[in-house]
Amino acid sequence: MYIVPEAKIADLVSREASFEAVEQVFAAMASKDAYNFPVVREAIGHEDALYGFKGGFDRVGGSLGLKAGGYWPHNLEKRGLINHQSTVFLFDPDTGRVHAMVGGNLLTALRTAAASSVSIKHLAREDAKVMGMIGAGHQATFQLRAALEQRSFEKVIGWNYHPEMLPNIEKVAQEAGLPFEAVELEGMREADVIISITSAFSPSLMADHVSEGTHIACMGTDTKGKQEVEAALLAKAKVFTDEVAQSISIGEAQHAVGSGLIAESDVIEIGAVINGAHPGRTSDSDITLFDGTGVGLQDLAVASKVVELAIERGVAIEVDF
Ligand code: NAD
Repeated sequence: MYIVPEAKIADLVSREASFEAVEQVFAAMASKDAYNFPVVREAIGHEDALYGFKGGFDRVGGSLGLKAGGYWPHNLEKRGLINHQSTVFLFDPDTGRVHAMVGGNLLTALRTAAASSVSIKHLAREDAKVMGMIGAGHQATFQLRAALEQRSFEKVIGWNYHPEMLPNIEKVAQEAGLPFEAVELEGMREADVIISITSAFSPSLMADHVSEGTHIACMGTDTKGKQEVEAALLAKAKVFTDEVAQSISIGEAQHAVGSGLIAESDVIEIGAVINGAHPGRTSDSDITLFDGTGVGLQDLAVASKVVELAIERGVAIEVDF
C-alpha cells in the first residue's frame, strides 16, 4: 500500500485537479455510477470530540474507501494542532485490499472549495462581477481563492460575525488583484455570487439580502441544527445540492424542507446539471442556491488523484501490508 503524508499534499494537488475530480464524481453520483454510504458521526465522550466516517464507491472513477476523522475542539489550545483532523483510506475495488492512506486535512479544504466552484461554474450568471463572502475562517480563504477563478470578478465584498477575522479574506482578494469591501448583510444585495461558510446555528443571510440573478453556495451547514441562511431564501431559489439525502437531513435544506416551505423533490443534484439532465439556471433573474453538504466521494475522488500524482512523482511511501 501507499502512504501520502499530510505534509506532501500541498505540492501534489492543484485547485484545478481537485475541481475536475469533484465535478466528475458529482456527475457520477447523478448518473448512479457512484454512491455514498451512510455517514457515521459520534460524540465519543472524550476530549469533546466528534468522530466519524464518510465513505462511498465510484464505479467510474474506481475509488472505494472512506474518510475517517472529525473535530477535536481543544487541539489548538492544548497541543498546537488544528481542530479538524482526518485521514482517507482507499481500497482496491477489485480485491478489497487497502491501496492507500492519505492525509485528509488539506484535502477537505480543497474538495470543499472545489464543490462551491463547480456550483459557480454551472449555476452562476456568466457576467457575475461582484463576489460576496459570508465567513472568514479557515475554509473561507480556500473557498474564495477557488471561486475567483470561475468568473471575471471585479470586486469582493465580505461580512463576518467576527469582523476582526475579515482580513483573512481581504488578503485573498488582494492576492487576486481585486478590491475588498467589508459590508453589512444588506450590502450583499450587490453580490452576483455569495458563498457562506460559517459554523452558525442561526441564519445570517436573509431572503431580502439577496438580489435577483444571484447564485449562493451554502457550504457551512453540515450537521443537524446548523443554519446559515433564512429558510425563505430556499423557497425563492432554485435549489441544488451534492446529495439530496444529506441536504434535507444535515444540510441547509433541512430547515426549508422541515418547515414545509419546499419539498424534497425541489432539491436537485448538481450532477444532473453537469450531465445535462437538468437545465440548471434558465433565466438571468433566477436565484440559484447550492447546498454543499460535503460527501465522502469528494474526498475519495481528490485523494485518488493525490495518490496517482504521488506515485508518478516518487513521493508516495510504499509499504508491504
Ligand atoms: P472556522 O472555525 O475557521 O470559522 C468559523 C466561521 O464561522 C468564522 O467565519 C466565524 O466568524 C463564523 N461564525 C462563528 N459563529 C458564528 C455565528 N454564530 N454566526 C455567524 N457566523 C459565525 O471554521 P471553518 O473550518 O472555516 O469551517 C466553517 C464551517 O464549514 C463549519 O461549520 C464546518 O463544519 C463547515 N465545513 C463544511 C464542509 C462541507 O463540505 N460542506 C467542509 C468543511 C467544513
